[in-house]
Amino acid sequence: MQIGVLALQGAFREHGVILRRIGVAHREVRLPGHLRGLDGLIIPGGESTTIGKLAREYSLLRPMRALAHEGKAVWGTCAGAILLAKQAGSRQPLLGLMDIAVQRNAFGRQLDSFETPLEVGALTALGEASGANGSGPRPFHGVFIRAPLISSVGSGVEVLARLPTGEVVAARQDGMLATVFHPELTDDDRFHRLFLDMIALQRGAVTAGSYD
Ligand code: GLN
Repeated sequence: MQIGVLALQGAFREHGVILRRIGVAHREVRLPGHLRGLDGLIIPGGESTTIGKLAREYSLLRPMRALAHEGKAVWGTCAGAILLAKQAGSRQPLLGLMDIAVQRNAFGRQLDSFETPLEVGALTALGEASGANGSGPRPFHGVFIRAPLISSVGSGVEVLARLPTGEVVAARQDGMLATVFHPELTDDDRFHRLFLDMIALQRGAVTAGSYD
């Protein structure tokens, strides 16, 4: 298993630290050739316009889309989630792979950054011990840094987490995962392990779908 981490700008090293800790090989992706043979790709947080422009400059947009179309899993955190979205309400290069719309910098200036616990039922599948009340996994510590919101989701998209006020902050669609917060800035590796599970599922789906 080999995971790529797009390393043009932003918090790519932090993803690498967690992947190393959980024993998964990874490669930093800066050029199209670095995408070859990957099982999954992480697009980190940072500044989505910068990442998108650099990706376009290095001819990465098309091969990244092709990777997703081949059924490889792709996870975007924060700016990465913006890149994955079909719509971001601004003129900037997007991959446009996931049927979600995002609103950039949705929390405004005063609340540029905040941290809050999130209930994420999908993390139960990882065999985590239930929370104190036995009702589900322990909350995930959400770190939001000038975060976008997922302002709408298509019918094929599964919502994974909302703020207490109802806004969607994590979602997945087939092999694609979008989180507008930063799991790589915590010690909690459950989202990374959820992504590994998605990679395994995608591999199964691709194998089951090929008859040659
Ligand atoms: N505000 C940034 C953007 O719109 C995203 C912030 C982040 O990735 N932490 O690109």
